Amino acid sequence: MTQLIRRLTHLQTGTAELHVQHVEGSPWNALLWIFFGRERVEVPISVFAVQHRDALVLVDAGMAPKVAWDPELWAHPITRAIMNRLFRFHIEPKDALGIQLRRAGIAPPEVDKAVLTHLHFDHAGGIADIPQAELVVSKDAWDHMLTPHAEREGVLRRDLEIPGAKWRQIQWEPIDDPALRPFTHGHDLMGDGSIVLLPTPGHLEGSLSVFVRTDPPILFVGDLCYRTDLLMKEQFPGTGDHEALAENWAKVRALKEALPNLLIVPSHDRTAVAQLLAHPLARPGDQYGVQAALAAP
Ligand SMILES: [Zn+2]
Repeated sequence: MTQLIRRLTHLQTGTAELHVQHVEGSPWNALLWIFFGRERVEVPISVFAVQHRDALVLVDAGMAPKVAWDPELWAHPITRAIMNRLFRFHIEPKDALGIQLRRAGIAPPEVDKAVLTHLHFDHAGGIADIPQAELVVSKDAWDHMLTPHAEREGVLRRDLEIPGAKWRQIQWEPIDDPALRPFTHGHDLMGDGSIVLLPTPGHLEGSLSVFVRTDPPILFVGDLCYRTDLLMKEQFPGTGDHEALAENWAKVRALKEALPNLLIVPSHDRTAVAQLLAHPLARPGDQYGVQAALAAP
């Protein structure tokens, strides 16, 4: 099975500073830390490239540089005020997905599929750079994007429904894969068990994780947690649906118990990215990404 996956690459479409309470949780009302919190942590905005024998698959598409300085980004003034306090971005034009792919030796037209763990603007923002790619998302995430309150939750419909984009919405199917229990539903992306999408909502409706069957195996969890250690010790972040997170974190911990060498890789976790870079199939996307990851505490 291992030979189906040939290479793993970490790309970084800039970094973001988040409030420490956003990442590690807080007993305060969220509005208090959003507006008065002072301590921040800088995290990578990751994209992972998985080279399968038959296809190049991205996990997420990162953030488009233009959104970091677009004053019209958030239409509603309250959303704008909150988002501008939640995030401080460090993103330059060179951080665009297309340029980062080229730096890693991947021509953007080579990307066959991009799996979006969820539709937040810092995970789906690079799709315009890979117009030929099939964009795979859960039907639940797509349906959530169509609701009137999606923008308030960080989902920018106008940047997702772009002309020519090849979206594919997947519905969860029963999977008979004993290695993936307690997950009973999922989607076998390549039809050979090498890349299996698993429903892990809680951060946002319809969020999914991507299991990659290598040695050691990998679970890309998107924003299910901001750091693996917080998931392992059940310390919830400052945002998200904690009840749904509790349910899905327990499933991921059970998976880790069954597969002790499983690498759980959240999109914004420097330590997990550094661990991924030590995987036998991994190589860095660019020098900056390596140094940023290795500088992790
Ligand atoms: Zn997110």
